[in-house]
Amino acid sequence: MPELPEVEHAVRLLRRAVRGRTIAHAELRHPSLARRLPPAVLASLAGARIADVTRRGKHQLIALADGRTLRAHFRMTGDWLVLRAGEEPPRFARAVFELDDGRRLVLEDSRALATLDVHPAGAPPALDLGPEPADPALTPEYLRARFARRRGPIKPALLDQRVIAGLGNIYAAEALWRARIGPRVRASSLSRPRLAALIAAIRAVIGRATGARYTEIGAARLAVYDREGLKCRRCGTPIRRIVQAGRSTYYCPACQRR
Ligand SMILES: [Zn+2]
Repeated sequence: MPELPEVEHAVRLLRRAVRGRTIAHAELRHPSLARRLPPAVLASLAGARIADVTRRGKHQLIALADGRTLRAHFRMTGDWLVLRAGEEPPRFARAVFELDDGRRLVLEDSRALATLDVHPAGAPPALDLGPEPADPALTPEYLRARFARRRGPIKPALLDQRVIAGLGNIYAAEALWRARIGPRVRASSLSRPRLAALIAAIRAVIGRATGARYTEIGAARLAVYDREGLKCRRCGTPIRRIVQAGRSTYYCPACQRR
């Protein structure tokens, strides 16, 4: 699943490839996208110039020169491909945007869970997102306040995009391991110094990521994620997996006792 660094990487590539270009034709190749992108809206994209591409959390915001915003979210397996004129779109092409220079921007997505929608000028998408990991507004005091009324454990709380934007299942587990915080610890019980350690750990794991896709990175560079039964890289104890809020959590029962 693409996490924040992968989405940032995708946004940078996309910006370089399409900024300043005009969409000549837009076409959907999977019915899952048609609900949010009905034929009239899709047709209205023809002639729109792409002014910029930015990211907020894991949302990709393609700003059109007419003021509208085309928002993309990769979910599980989405990715962009830029095809030269004459190149065939791949099997899992879900949306194809033909550009004025003949190239085609393709949303490729084997699971077909990625989303695309268009927001009118003056009404950008309401994303309801917390600060990004790199944002100075992400402080121990901020997290204390956000966690104060939460009864649940820290790991699912970290996945709440309204608290921190862009942190996903992989990096939440990695950051907790790095900060030596047990995934089942109550979010509201964490002291200011431990929250400071957690924020530092989040910034370290996000900053260390290269933006390559996980399938290419392999598990070798991750400390706990997808390493059930393998030795903790810090203390040698076998990594455990539990399920929290429907998602797998990997952790070291020795290093992350508290
Ligand atoms: Zn350990």
